[in-house]
Amino acid sequence: MSMNCPHCGETMHIRSSRETSLISREIYYRCTNLHCGHIAIAITELIKTIVPAQFPNPKCHLPVIKPESSAPPRG
Ligand SMILES: [Zn+2]
Repeated sequence: MSMNCPHCGETMHIRSSRETSLISREIYYRCTNLHCGHIAIAITELIKTIVPAQFPNPKCHLPVIKPESSAPPRG
């Protein structure tokens, strides 16, 4: 997953990440424009289940949705 720098518009690359919970991670991004130097943190989080796991973890509680409602919006 790539992102553009909100300051200069160049691509930001992932430098590292760390788990913050069972369903989320912090992602550390660095702008590829050396003159900009922006570094930022994003969060990636699982929010819904489309197909239930074969070996479910009882500690994981994600709402199950119907497959047809999981399609990304068309632009
Ligand atoms: Zn930048």
